Amino acid sequence: MPGNEKWDVIPTRPANMAPPAPEFPWPAGHRAAMFLSFDVDAESAWTSKDPAHAERLVTMSFGGFEARVGTPKLLELLDQLGLKATFFITGWAVDAHPAMAENILKAGHEIGHHGYHHLLPDPGDPYIQDELDRGFETLKRRLGVVPVGYRAPFGESCDELRISLKQRGILYSSSWRDDVRPYRQVLPDGSPGVIELPPTSSYDDWMHGLSARFSPRSVFPKEHVLSMWKDELDEVRDWGAMVTTVLHPQVSGRPMRLRLLRDFLTYAQAHKDVWITTGAEIAAHYAACEAAAAKAA
Ligand SMILES: [Zn+2]
Repeated sequence: MPGNEKWDVIPTRPANMAPPAPEFPWPAGHRAAMFLSFDVDAESAWTSKDPAHAERLVTMSFGGFEARVGTPKLLELLDQLGLKATFFITGWAVDAHPAMAENILKAGHEIGHHGYHHLLPDPGDPYIQDELDRGFETLKRRLGVVPVGYRAPFGESCDELRISLKQRGILYSSSWRDDVRPYRQVLPDGSPGVIELPPTSSYDDWMHGLSARFSPRSVFPKEHVLSMWKDELDEVRDWGAMVTTVLHPQVSGRPMRLRLLRDFLTYAQAHKDVWITTGAEIAAHYAACEAAAAKAA
């Protein structure tokens, strides 16, 4: 049929060629896991959409909330609950708010790579390598950190990016939405890629908790979101699988959202068999199980 040619180049195979995730057991005493993670974009969440936002100071203030209030309050909450999390931080946010980034590190949390300007890694974009370079450089220069985890800005990925992540020594990525367990990516040439810790869409607080001038709706109330978050965790726990949070200090650091998060994490902690931890811990556990399985084979 005329006009269909551009679709005929789409390969007739799954976009993700990795086999189903292996059902490795969780560490002793645990039947499910929660990868507790935050994305610290600060103002780069807004400038990545339009660099001209840099001069729109109220727009910028939505992101500025992270350094002034949101991140300190979240660090306080995690300390009270005795939890360690992963914070994926853009290089720009580290350069603009070094004290905030240092406080996250000092509190013992994992720091992950989240690009520099938070630019979506779309296939063919000219800045994919530069975003990676500058992110690594900033985390090293400001914090002395060589990250093992990466989460793509806006959660997009492409072959150039995932090949580069492997070459640059990244252990795990947390961007793909296609599983409830960790698995290893397969690169286009069939070789092993990085470990993927898939995020859980319902735990993206941006969807339910942010109401900005650009948002056509109000926020969802605590009971509504808590009900979704509990159901997701309860079912995943029955499956023996994993959930991954995608929380932003400019959302979950707001007073009523912090109250929601406290309630949810307290609920999760009451289930002693849920392993609540960082991405680095889960990826290391996966890698150890994978190595043991290869040895036994
Ligand atoms: Zn982000």
